[in-house]
Amino acid sequence: KFGASETKLGVSETKVPNCGSRIMVFVRLRPMSKKEKEGGSRCCVRIVNRRDVYLTEFANENDYLRLKRLRGRHFTFDASFPDSTCQQEVYSTSTAELVEAVLQGRNGSVFCYGATGAGKTYTMLGTLESPGVMVLAIKDLFTKIRQRSCDGNHAVHLSYLEVYNETVRDLLSPGRPLVLREDKQGMVAAGLTQYRAYSTDEVMQLLQQGNQNRTTEPTRCNETSSRSHAILQVVVEYQVRDASMNVVNRVGKLSLIDLAGSERALATDQRTVRSIEGANINRSLLALSSCINALVEGKKHIPYRNSKLTQLLKDSLGGDCNTVMIANISPCNLSFGETQNTLHWADRAKEIRTKASEVNEEVVEVPESETDRAKLLLELQKEN
Ligand code: ADP
Ligand code: MG
Repeated sequence: KFGASETKLGVSETKVPNCGSRIMVFVRLRPMSKKEKEGGSRCCVRIVNRRDVYLTEFANENDYLRLKRLRGRHFTFDASFPDSTCQQEVYSTSTAELVEAVLQGRNGSVFCYGATGAGKTYTMLGTLESPGVMVLAIKDLFTKIRQRSCDGNHAVHLSYLEVYNETVRDLLSPGRPLVLREDKQGMVAAGLTQYRAYSTDEVMQLLQQGNQNRTTEPTRCNETSSRSHAILQVVVEYQVRDASMNVVNRVGKLSLIDLAGSERALATDQRTVRSIEGANINRSLLALSSCINALVEGKKHIPYRNSKLTQLLKDSLGGDCNTVMIANISPCNLSFGETQNTLHWADRAKEIRTKASEVNEEVVEVPESETDRAKLLLELQKEN
């Protein structure tokens, strides 16, 4: 696929230090909506010093007495984004470093967690005018590839899938549910479309289209509440010569995940289909919280198998990966309980230690003789 003779290969860069072996946790506060303002909602969250989140008010006067002891509770994260933060800043602070690591052949994942309406999809996908992390990451990836001398040698593949009701579906070519299986690269969905991308322009369109295929159902809480988890996978593959002038194949994988609403299903509509659906959402997110707990407590057995979502996130949580969590919260006092719940899990996620990602590489060609090796080295020295 990558004819070494046709393409000029770069030489292995000095390895960047990797992002550490802890999940990085960020919080993003969304602005109060017009409707909320008009409805007289108060703001119950304050962000101080770009790190600390203060919960300042309660849902209503009755809650006030029950929750009094929590008044003024504060949390500290790797960074907290106030409601004025632009998409580019969220991207640069949370994800840019992972993109650099993916270009060195490491794995990275970013997931957005929070209640419906808290700003997960806005953060991940964004709009055509203000593209989110998914699009900015791909844009940055292409810019960085172009800046390297070995341009033309990199292949970028995208796949976009959803987990809905414990079923995995391809968002780029909707059809029958996909089956998960484990291979040497981790958990994969058999038959998933791998779309070869050449530029950012086509990608935004593709993702918007994919997002239209996401399962959304009206619920009492929110008319277009997203009930599914969406996962964008970006795989970058390229070849370089290592210090011994062998040709090595490097593969870096970036997973960008927009989780379904974390609010309790019981708080919405519990009848018939919706209740089954709610139970499954609970199953996935419950499984996620059990995994987080088990990882924090350093347990030997992590219950990834309990849901499709945790099977797919296995690499990201406990595997060979640099992981970022963005917790999305609403400023509205009516969402106090959900905000508190989100901050609780985000705070807990800070404790997870992951195995920091190693470079995924495989030697695919060695120089034919020692003379060839020496020649190649000499050429390289001349070039520099
Ligand atoms: P979620 O995916 O968590 O359910 P959305 O991303 O759909 O929530 O956000 C709910 C609404 O709030 C949308 O109309 C979205 O455009 C808006 N919104 C969310 N975050 C922001 C933000 N940071 N700036 C401006 N509007 C936002
Ligand atoms: Mg959403």
